[in-house]
Amino acid sequence: MNAKCKNAKANFAFCILHLIERETYVTATILDGRALAMELRAAAQADITSISQKIGRAPGLAVIQVLGDAASTRYVRSIEKLCTTVGARFRLLTLPANAAQVQLDVTIDELNADPATDGILLQLPLPSHLNADAAIMRINHRKDVDGVHPINAGLLAQGRPALVPNTPAGGMELLRRNRIELRGKRAAVIGRSAIVGRPMAQLLIQADATVTICHSRTADLGAVLRECEIVCVAAGRPGLVTAEMIRPGAVVIDFGTNVAADGSLIGDVDFATVAEVAGAITPVPGGTGPVTNVMLIRNLIAAVRL
Ligand code: NAD
Repeated sequence: MNAKCKNAKANFAFCILHLIERETYVTATILDGRALAMELRAAAQADITSISQKIGRAPGLAVIQVLGDAASTRYVRSIEKLCTTVGARFRLLTLPANAAQVQLDVTIDELNADPATDGILLQLPLPSHLNADAAIMRINHRKDVDGVHPINAGLLAQGRPALVPNTPAGGMELLRRNRIELRGKRAAVIGRSAIVGRPMAQLLIQADATVTICHSRTADLGAVLRECEIVCVAAGRPGLVTAEMIRPGAVVIDFGTNVAADGSLIGDVDFATVAEVAGAITPVPGGTGPVTNVMLIRNLIAAVRL
């Protein structure tokens, strides 16, 4: 037996041992966010090409970043790359970490007035000396591609057309594209933040699901989840949702993004055990995350149309 063959055999044996050790038998359908994101990106590119021809310029996204947050810089770069890929115009306006509120206000006002800027994204979190709520309120809600302005939240709550936060919009797209029936189903959303939990609950209501919102004060999370055919998790607590909380065959959407001790990215759901019980599940990474950014471009297209 040559060395290459010996290596291959050793690798195979290692994988089998590893699986037995972890006793992981995935039975759920994996909801693949990367594949969906690629499809959505291609569609967005086609839309942007046709809009650009119609209005005589590329749709414009402006990002305001108050410097100081490394994760924020990485995210901004990924948005720039995406804009370049789909043919949108990207503008980054950076402010120093010690910028005054008035500087932020002036930047927002300029972008609100700029006819070539269709979407404004204010990178959060802001340094603590700045008032994020006041800044968000100042953005023209028709350019609010993050869907965080209270007018957009209000429109969504009333079931009217709105610019919707990207993460829950992406979660809904994953459900829709995988033909998961929502009408009449019982759904739970864990998390009540304005950016993920609440809008996800509103979108599920719009899709005719019967929705329960759970949060850090929910008395018996497992009892609520076991009633539900759809479970969406956005708590930022790794391992919060375990197999015994999940009804067999339920669909589990994990928005959680946590960094494990070994530096890897993990969700809020204990994937290995829940995947043995659930009917379908999003992995982390590769589930809701990749779809989120593309939904920003979808909002930019919607903002141009507004
Ligand atoms: P947040 O901290 O604003 O809200 C967390 C929510 O979880 C709160 O409403 C809280 O009540 C609830 N919660 C906390 N502990 C709980 C518990 N033990 N039981 C039940 N509920 C509990 O966070 P957020 O901004 O909504 O983000 C939530 C998660 O989603 C984070 O991991 C974040 O990184 C991730 N996220 C993912 C994406 C994506 O694209 N996948 C985008 C944004 C946020």
